[in-house]
Amino acid sequence: MAPREFDTIVIGAGSVGNPTAYFLAKEGLRTLVLDELSSSGQGQNKAAIGGVRATHSDPAKIVLCRQSLEIFSHWEGTTGTDIGWKRGGYCFPAFTEKVEATVKGLLPVQKRFRLNIDWVDAETLKKVVPGISENGLRGGTFSPEDGQVSPLAAAESFTHEATKLGAVFRYREPVKSLILKGNSVVGVRTEEGEYRALTVVNASGVNAAGISKMAGLDTPILPDSHEGGISAPVQPFLGPLIVDLRPGPEGKTINFYFGQDAHGQIIFCYTPIAPIAGTNRNSTYEFMPIVAARLVEVIPRLKNLMIRRVWRGLYPMTPDGSPIVGEAPNVEGFVLGVGMCGQGFMLGPGVGESLAALIAHGAPAIDRDVFDLLSPARDLYRGKKEALK
Ligand SMILES: Cc1cc2nc3c(=O)[nH]c(=O)nc-3n(C[C@H](O)[C@H](O)[C@H](O)COP(=O)(O)OP(=O)(O)OC[C@H]3O[C@@H](n4cnc5c(N)ncnc54)[C@H](O)[C@@H]3O)c2cc1C
Repeated sequence: MAPREFDTIVIGAGSVGNPTAYFLAKEGLRTLVLDELSSSGQGQNKAAIGGVRATHSDPAKIVLCRQSLEIFSHWEGTTGTDIGWKRGGYCFPAFTEKVEATVKGLLPVQKRFRLNIDWVDAETLKKVVPGISENGLRGGTFSPEDGQVSPLAAAESFTHEATKLGAVFRYREPVKSLILKGNSVVGVRTEEGEYRALTVVNASGVNAAGISKMAGLDTPILPDSHEGGISAPVQPFLGPLIVDLRPGPEGKTINFYFGQDAHGQIIFCYTPIAPIAGTNRNSTYEFMPIVAARLVEVIPRLKNLMIRRVWRGLYPMTPDGSPIVGEAPNVEGFVLGVGMCGQGFMLGPGVGESLAALIAHGAPAIDRDVFDLLSPARDLYRGKKEALK
């Protein structure tokens, strides 16, 4: 008979749930992970293109992603498993005055956190991004310590290492309800029966609002569709992941991201101008023509790429665009690691490490004031209310 009593239950073996389980097991806590899908990382984790950067403007994202970079970059040395880590950096090229002002405007806060990022002129940028279009190129920011990882390889490896430390993973077993005692969550129910634990972690991605509701909690997370794709491999030539912040001439994209992964494949996605709310995961006819034009606009020599595969995934969006991380307000034994928006893969290890420390020792692995910026108790609508004033 399967064990039914644990210290911690994690709902979701995804970008957040897997590293959380690994760090919980490392703390010596008996950990159960339940996922409704058939194996690790099969939710939105595998939709990510694998970009990992600490160079944000929000202090909590900076600090958590810096932890993630530390974990990803040492992973092969620690575990012996190659997860496709590539320290190629991130580059935000500026082809317009507006983009130059935007990226330069972020540098003071990034430097305050001692991130290795700077403005480089057009001549230097041409060396960082061989073959970049010179048409209007003014320079750009470059952060050499950021990088890329394979999301599926990382998910499988976190699961493997957590299992070695004693964590139990059960797949095709959706959580149907939470077991409540007064205002405490004391376990979960699935079709296989009940599991009890001192703490339950909601790491269920785009389903997180529904899981929170089972504890009477309103966690406003809505899915939002984004497409991605990958080419056949070509000779490695491109170090950094590129973020082109220009809106597209086609009038449908706010920005465009791409990079070359550790296997030489070019991997890409963009942000649609109008958010596409909902859970539609069907690929669209317009994605590839838009991407092809944007890719060739930035690096003309990519015109001969052979595209291997496209997909569409979901961002778990919050009203203020920041994750919701920490103890649930007014509910004991319930911890949230949700609302990762478009950055859950890069936030996952940092969030997981801090959630495990919080559960095991009552304090996150990073500065409490910074961690609390993502508190579930914050006013998630503050920005919207201020915009209406
Ligand atoms: C095209 C695209 C590109 C992206 N690129 C990047 C990138 O470069 N870098 C980056 O950081 N992020 C990127 N993202 C965003 C990233 O994929 C998400 O933010 C991240 O995967 C969310 O992590 P999560 O753990 O919250 O959710 P998931 O990884 O989806 O994990 C949640 C898990 O919970 C399980 N679950 C749900 N409900 C239940 C239930 N009732 N019972 C049991 N299990 C349940 C699901 O099956 C799933 O496995 C990208 C996303 C897309 C779509």
